[in-house]
Amino acid sequence: MMTTEELLAVIISLGADKAGAVPVDEIDFEPSFRSLCESNACGMYGRSWMCPPHVGKVEDLICQARTYRTALVYQIVDTLEDSYDFEGMMAAGERMNRLAAAVRRKFTDLGLEDCLFLGAGGCRVCSRCAKQDDQPCRHPDLALSSLEAYGINVSVLAPQAGMKYINGVNTVTYFGAVLMGKR
Ligand code: SF4
Repeated sequence: MMTTEELLAVIISLGADKAGAVPVDEIDFEPSFRSLCESNACGMYGRSWMCPPHVGKVEDLICQARTYRTALVYQIVDTLEDSYDFEGMMAAGERMNRLAAAVRRKFTDLGLEDCLFLGAGGCRVCSRCAKQDDQPCRHPDLALSSLEAYGINVSVLAPQAGMKYINGVNTVTYFGAVLMGKR
């Protein structure tokens, strides 16, 4: 059985810039954050099985998250050419998606599949989510929801995990997490 510190080191070795542990009991869940998803700033609202509203009611997801003891939180921070560097933001998002998928694969290989794996900005396992064609999820064993969909206040979570939520001008920061340790 690996320790929390060893698992954080695994996440760093996969490409995260920082990683830290937070007790799930101390996470600030905000059901009202669902309205951010509903504003559809990311363009994924209603277009993915792992995004609202299809991922489920935020109250139910918060209850699900609270069945775990520990959150292993991780972040990537990338530099942008300027605050209009859309390509840089997209590249950072793709790096985050690859990292979150790699974390899930690695934890599954380690026998830790009974975890809740959360990424940033919705599931990007498929280039076009099956939801958009009214088909069932193609890869439920790989699909990833987001911290935001679960109502997690990431601006509070980041310092709890020893990280900055914002990392200066012309940077972009993304967060992922593994919730583990069933009660
Ligand atoms: S695995 Fe594919 S079909 Fe399933 S939620 Fe993710 S993108 Fe959609």
